[in-house]
Amino acid sequence: MTEKLYLADSYLKDFTAKVVEAEGIILDRTAFYPASGGQPADLGKLFHGDEGLDVVHVEKSGDKIAHILKESSLEMGNEVIGKIDWDRRYKFMRFHTSMHLISTIVLQKYNSFITGNQIGLEKSRIDFNLRDYDKEELLSYVDEHANNLIKKGAEVKSYFLDREEALNIPFAKRLKTDSLPPGEKLRIVEIEGFDREICGGTHVRNLSEVKEIETLGLRSKGKDNKRLEFTLKGKDR
Ligand SMILES: [Zn+2]
Repeated sequence: MTEKLYLADSYLKDFTAKVVEAEGIILDRTAFYPASGGQPADLGKLFHGDEGLDVVHVEKSGDKIAHILKESSLEMGNEVIGKIDWDRRYKFMRFHTSMHLISTIVLQKYNSFITGNQIGLEKSRIDFNLRDYDKEELLSYVDEHANNLIKKGAEVKSYFLDREEALNIPFAKRLKTDSLPPGEKLRIVEIEGFDREICGGTHVRNLSEVKEIETLGLRSKGKDNKRLEFTLKGKDR
């Protein structure tokens, strides 16, 4: 099993680790987030001696995490230093945290659930099973409420709870299609005073780090399925 360093500290940018399987480049521990839950994989480098090896993809492989390298000369037992592409990851963290915020705003006002989501570098999308709504009203409602909450700021924290306790939190399992990881504990991500969700992703520490969001539109993707797109605004967007 790979120790997932990003779960304890999503701000960890570099780390040391040991290669435990050369096939698929499995490390004993990693800060590289594997593509999952609509969040793309981290990119970056693994350094071994004088060599810097490009990580071009990261994916889950059972309870392990595989690092796909452009070229690899690594062998079992090698010590490496990993460095993630921080600008890319931090953007994903801001988008991902916004996603919690927007999905809760839409859930509370329209009683609508998420059917899918995808984070990108320029924009992200959330699909909802929406029925009764006015498009312009919904979009301006989301912009206004999300940005008010971002401006006020709130601590975003994560912790593990017993599986049953986590599943008893109303709406903690937001994405109906997503399967939960096995085990006795589930990870909760809480926007203090606002929302608690079961999630294994990476988030900013405070909502204020999102800075500002802007909805880009809402379009139909089927009978009850509507796709909301949004982007990040402000400096370093
Ligand atoms: Zn999350």
